[in-house]
Amino acid sequence: VGVLIKNGEVVTATDRYHADVRVADGVIVAIGRDLKPEPFDRVVDASGCFVFPGAIDVHTHLDMPFMGATNKDDFRTGTIAAALGGTTGVIDFVIPEKGQPLLEALDLWHAKARGKAVFDYAFHMAVTHMGPTVKDELHRLVHDHGITSFKTFMAYKGALGIDDGELLDVMLQTRDLGALVTVHAENPEVIDRLTRRFLAEGKTHPKYHPLSRPSGVEGEGTHRAIALSGVADTSVYIVHLTCREALSEVVRARGDFRDVMAETCPQYLLLDDSLYDGPGFEGAKYVMSPPLRSKADQEALWHALEHGFIQTIATDHCPFDFEGQKTMGTNDFSKIPNGAPGIEDRLKLIYTYGVREGRISLNKFVEVMATNPAKIFGLYPRKGTIAIGADADLVVFDPTHSGVITARESHHNVDYSLFEGWRYQGAAAQVLVRGELIVEDGQFVGEPGFGRYLKRAPMPRGQKRMLMAEAQAHTHL
Ligand SMILES: [Zn+2]
Repeated sequence: VGVLIKNGEVVTATDRYHADVRVADGVIVAIGRDLKPEPFDRVVDASGCFVFPGAIDVHTHLDMPFMGATNKDDFRTGTIAAALGGTTGVIDFVIPEKGQPLLEALDLWHAKARGKAVFDYAFHMAVTHMGPTVKDELHRLVHDHGITSFKTFMAYKGALGIDDGELLDVMLQTRDLGALVTVHAENPEVIDRLTRRFLAEGKTHPKYHPLSRPSGVEGEGTHRAIALSGVADTSVYIVHLTCREALSEVVRARGDFRDVMAETCPQYLLLDDSLYDGPGFEGAKYVMSPPLRSKADQEALWHALEHGFIQTIATDHCPFDFEGQKTMGTNDFSKIPNGAPGIEDRLKLIYTYGVREGRISLNKFVEVMATNPAKIFGLYPRKGTIAIGADADLVVFDPTHSGVITARESHHNVDYSLFEGWRYQGAAAQVLVRGELIVEDGQFVGEPGFGRYLKRAPMPRGQKRMLMAEAQAHTHL
C-alpha cells in the first residue's frame, strides 16, 4: 500500500516545482505531474502546501541526566513533539559518565530509544574521557555500531569536559577512522574563574550566567578547536555557534579552504540576552550554554546562514522543568541545569522568522534543516532530500496555518516554552516516516517504537564531508 501526495509544491535544497509524490514500501517511487493512485493508495491532498524532505535535528538530548537532574523528554515524548513540528529524524548524544566504557553508555542509550522513538534516529558518541579502552572502543563504534560522529566538550570542566591534549587525541583517532569530531567550544578555565568570582561576590542571580561565559569565551574556544583540527589535519563541526567572535573564526577557516562546519539554533537566532534580566528567577528558563547573545549577533548568524558559513540549524533540545529543576539554582546560577526545550518549534519558527521575513530562501531553509544535516552526518541521500529511492520521510507544510506558541499547547514534557507567545505562520500538516503517516492534520497518529536505529558509514580518509556526501549520492540510491 502506498501514499500519493497530490498537488503540492516540492521543495529541495536546490529546486521548487509542482509535482505529485508517490511512496511505497517506505521509499519514494515516483515524482511527477498528474500521477494516478495505485489501488489502495492513500491520497493526501497537498494543494497550497509545500512538500519538504523530513527535517533532521542533529542536536538533541533526550532522557539525559545532567547537573543532578534528568531532563524531561524521553524518546517517546521528545520524538512525538518533534514529529508534530515536522522533524522526522534526530541524532541524539550518548553521554558516558567520566570513566564509563563508551560501549556501555551506548547500550544504555539504545535501551532508552528502543520501543519509544516514533521516527528513525542515530547517535553521536560523546568522548568524555580518554581511558585506556577508548581507542579500541572508537574503532568498534565506527565499524560495528555505525557511529561516525563524536562529541567533545571543551566546557564543563571536571564533568564532561576534556583537555586540549585529549581533544587532539580524539581528532587524530576519528580522522583515521573516517569519522567527524564535533566540539562544544567554550574556554572552561575562564568560565570557572568568572563563575567563582561572581559567586564570591554574592552575585547568584541567573543574569550572571551569561556574564560568566561571555562571547569571547566562545570565540577563543572556537579558535582553539579549529586550530587543533588543523594540527590533526581533520574536519571539525562546531555545535551551537552563537556569536560574532566564534563566527569570524569559522569564516576565516572556511576562507582558508578548511573543512570547518558550524551549527546554530533557533534560540540564538531569535532570542537575546535581555531575557536574563527578566523578573525574579525567570531568567533561569534561558540558562543554557553557550548563553543567548545580542541582537547584533543574531543578525550576523542570519547572514552566515544565508551565505553558507553556517550549515545547519538544530535545537539542542534539553528540557528541564522551571519548577523543581531550574529552581535547583535559586541561590546559585551555576547550579541551574543548563538547557531548554525547542524540539517542536524549529520549522515553524525558522519558516516564519527566516523565510517569511526574507532572511533565508525556502531552498536554504530545506538545506539547513534537512539536507546539510543528512550530508554532514552520513545519512544522505537516504534522508534529507526528495528523490526516487530515498526514504519517504516527508513533510506536507501548510504555509497558511498560523498560531501562537504556548507551553500549554506544546507536546514536549516540560513546564515552559522558550517561545511563549511567539506567533508563527506555517506549520507541518502531514508527516510521513518511511511512507507511514505519523502526523495527520497536525495530530500525532504514529506508533512509539516505529523508529529504527540508523547505522552510518565512515568516510574515506581526507574527503571533505559535504563534498563526499554528494559524490556518494549517485552510488547509494
Ligand atoms: Zn547540547
